[in-house]
Amino acid sequence: MDYPDALNNLIETFMRYPGVGRKTAERYALYTISSFKDEDYEAFRTTLERVENEIKPCETCGHLTDRGICPICRDPSRDASKILVVEESRDVIVIEKTRTYDGLYHVLGGVLSPSNGVGPEELSIKPLLERLKNDEHKELILATNLSDEGETTALYLQRLLKDIDILITRIAYGMPAGGNIGYADEITLNKALEGRKKL
Ligand SMILES: [Zn+2]
Repeated sequence: MDYPDALNNLIETFMRYPGVGRKTAERYALYTISSFKDEDYEAFRTTLERVENEIKPCETCGHLTDRGICPICRDPSRDASKILVVEESRDVIVIEKTRTYDGLYHVLGGVLSPSNGVGPEELSIKPLLERLKNDEHKELILATNLSDEGETTALYLQRLLKDIDILITRIAYGMPAGGNIGYADEITLNKALEGRKKL
């Protein structure tokens, strides 16, 4: 005996989220059905539609935005000599909250992960190379996470860019081993940024 089709579909949809297994997905789905009123369904539909239609990666840096170019790239007071390379938009949000970084960003959209079918083509690497043709950018700070995949990605970029005339640095190991930027506290992030090393 299984759930009706539509309910099964909802469970499977929730199961696509990271860290959500069948049991949790079932709980979410059953909660939706028992607690949502008509207006909640309507609001949820509208929210999803708005996200689908309005949120796109910034045409320059890849940070998620509801305008073509994100507010950071459009801000003339940002220091365009530095580009901080991160995995995800969430990393940008976290670093912006620390208010210690005034340069620009580049969001890769993930990390190299051959076992998950993620190669250089799947990441925003070509757009990064395009950006680096502009010589107002003097330093590229590699701030992928300090996980195996983050390190591999940083190393890949370092090798790829070795002939380009730009200073390449890597955030410091003030971060805990395997450190995930998106979960680091302010002090740790400050130290990681300030202690960055030339590669
Ligand atoms: Zn941008």
